[in-house]
Amino acid sequence: MAAPVQGWNHPVLCNGFHWDDPRLLDRAWLTHAPSRQGGMGGARGGNGPPHASDAKAVWLADEFSLGGVLMGFARYRERRHKDGPAVVLGHLGPGDGRRKSERVVSLYFCGADFDHDIDGEALRSGVAASGLMAAVYSTHSHLTGDPPVQKWRVITPLRPRFDVADFRDLREAQAKWRAVCCGFAEAVGGFELDQARTDLAGAFYLPSHQPGAPHESYLFGGEFFDWRPYAAKVSAPERRARGQVSYSSRSQQAAPGGPQSITNGGRALSGWARAGYAETFQIADFIADYAHDQVIDLGTHDAIDIICPFAEHHSDPDQPGGCWAVNAGFGDQTPTFIVKCHHNHAETGGAGYTLLDYLAKMVTDDWFGFGDDFEAAQHALESEEYNPTISQGGEVK
Ligand SMILES: [Zn+2]
Repeated sequence: MAAPVQGWNHPVLCNGFHWDDPRLLDRAWLTHAPSRQGGMGGARGGNGPPHASDAKAVWLADEFSLGGVLMGFARYRERRHKDGPAVVLGHLGPGDGRRKSERVVSLYFCGADFDHDIDGEALRSGVAASGLMAAVYSTHSHLTGDPPVQKWRVITPLRPRFDVADFRDLREAQAKWRAVCCGFAEAVGGFELDQARTDLAGAFYLPSHQPGAPHESYLFGGEFFDWRPYAAKVSAPERRARGQVSYSSRSQQAAPGGPQSITNGGRALSGWARAGYAETFQIADFIADYAHDQVIDLGTHDAIDIICPFAEHHSDPDQPGGCWAVNAGFGDQTPTFIVKCHHNHAETGGAGYTLLDYLAKMVTDDWFGFGDDFEAAQHALESEEYNPTISQGGEVK
């Protein structure tokens, strides 16, 4: 048996975390500033200066296994000073080596900073209850101040990954990413998040502790974090302030019963929406059951990847995806069902379709097998099976 490596701790495994989980072989990209003091990926040895806060540091992207990343976020080095190896939770493209949001291509993980003395045990209960796979670890200054304050980080893998190119511009991607980070904090228990660290290119120190200071890390088994419902949650006021009408703000007006739909089919469904069905419709289930061949990935089953019903408007018709459907009431974030496409549907002046337009297009393209019998389709859309009673809290009864 090999001697344990000095300085490495063993994380506490929780919620069925298993090192033989085949998903731990998935590949993920991180971007790190090279450090000679033991960075991600197990590099060890040397006593050179760490570079994480060095303005001249060159940040380079690298591919890792998911298991390797989680382990990197679960084991400690002893370090007198806070500064040490740090990573951005995704792939920064080529550039001048600086850590900045303009370089972010994709994010593979979401991280949350909890620096406001939240109770570690309550946090771990929240993470366990969320059912998410995650690494939870205390930070370098955890319980070392006066008064001692608990400081925790939680890192979860994303599914699907967050691609900046799927958004209209960097500003939109940043706004969505902030919503995703806040959504993650909500999902693991609703603790107060340090919002400063919701930048796309935000960096996270790998775990370290001061000599003799308390330090704990945990790995939780569970699902990957499906961020899409949180990104779909609107930042409409911000957009309106910029004089734009976003798809999200339009969809809010359109359901229930707004006049904003721009297709005949969408308008034909406005009565259906006004009757309250938009707020209960389990569209992901409906598509999975009636239009399975339009599903790209069943995801969490409440939020699924689908072929875009308006894929003919995509600038590259060979990329019909980039669209998702989310059940009404899912995750307390979705007052109505959601259909959302990341592509710019140029012929409508951008993403002008309401969710009723999307749904109607599926019906008229006969996704569900009702031919041109719109009434029969509508009848199915009203069935109890796909419209359970949803309580105020958004939970399906
Ligand atoms: Zn589309």
